[in-house]
Amino acid sequence: MYEFTYTANASRVIFGRGSLNSIEQEVERLGAGRALVLCTPDRRELAEPVAALLGKRCAGIYAGAIMHVPIESARAATEHAGKVGADCAIAIGGGSTVGLGKAIALESALPIIAIPTTYAGSEMTPIFGLTENGLKRTGRDARVLPRTVIYDPQLSLTLPLPISFVSGLNAMAHAAEGLYARDGNPVMSLMAEEGIRALAKGLRALKQDAANPDARSDCLYGAWLCGTVLGQVGMALHHKLCHTLGGSFNLPHAETHASVLPHALAYNAAAAPEAMRRIARALGASEAEANDPAAAALALHALSQELGIPAGLKSIGMQEDDLDRACQIALANPYWNPRAIEPQPLRALLQRAWSGVAPQ
Ligand code: NAD
Repeated sequence: MYEFTYTANASRVIFGRGSLNSIEQEVERLGAGRALVLCTPDRRELAEPVAALLGKRCAGIYAGAIMHVPIESARAATEHAGKVGADCAIAIGGGSTVGLGKAIALESALPIIAIPTTYAGSEMTPIFGLTENGLKRTGRDARVLPRTVIYDPQLSLTLPLPISFVSGLNAMAHAAEGLYARDGNPVMSLMAEEGIRALAKGLRALKQDAANPDARSDCLYGAWLCGTVLGQVGMALHHKLCHTLGGSFNLPHAETHASVLPHALAYNAAAAPEAMRRIARALGASEAEANDPAAAALALHALSQELGIPAGLKSIGMQEDDLDRACQIALANPYWNPRAIEPQPLRALLQRAWSGVAPQ
């Protein structure tokens, strides 16, 4: 029997090859006339065409986005936006750039347009992150949700394959946890399953041909679906663990998600069989195979191997000696998860995620 509450986040989404060309129209639609274009220092080439398309409506390029949004970078960007008289900001790039846009919106209430070029999904969420004195805090605020999101698959053609693959698994993590969320609903579950399916198809096709425009479109479509799920329902063990590992051990975001996800799913498998069935099905398992709750984690591990993603947290710089501390930190703040968070099984999960062996 269905029982749920569903509140949609209101953002306008424009999806399609060449949709970047609508940027001036979209700025105008917000009633804005001076847009500040944000990017990371190494990706000015993404921002320059946006500035060119905007012409007189561009208040300049600000190439100061940094991963995890240090508070000083957010303050400097907000000050710069004020100085140049910007009345909206356009974030083009991955989650780091969208994060800077959100920080500006939080401080100044400027409307944000996001043009994502990775699969992180931040553009669809009212969640912001700010790092102060080495500690990352996250929060929810409706002001930071981008008003308009332009998904143009052409823009991700230059995203290197290794980043594309781990970013795709980062997106799948939102959908996977959305499928067993305590506050989940049937619409989000449909989007989550379709998101995993589209990403699995797109990532496999990218492995064959990095320049395949249809594969880029599938991946970005999947990222939109998965990001929407992240913005609507609560996450659990997997996201909390990745937040701990990223924040306390300075591990890279998408790569951490890719290493942990099969093991977090294995941990929750018996407690969330319907979610596991849908995940396994979306990854290509037959109906009969998908009925085994262990199938989802194994299918994800197999996909990761097929894509050639480096195995385990050890491959991204985590020290084995730090696993005990990671476990203690993860146990310190209790949160909801379909299966109770128990010290010994959690420590075993971390060990397996570190070494990159098959999930169990
Ligand atoms: P990122 O934005 O740092 O991008 C990863 C790399 O991809 C960078 O080196 C970037 O230069 C490169 N890149 C991006 N687009 C490119 C392109 N078109 N061509 C070539 N290279 C390109 O990383 P990310 O994984 O997208 O985002 C991670 C950040 O986003 C983290 O700080 C994370 O906490 C945050 N995040 C927030 C939310 C949320 O809802 N608030 C959701 C997901 C992620």
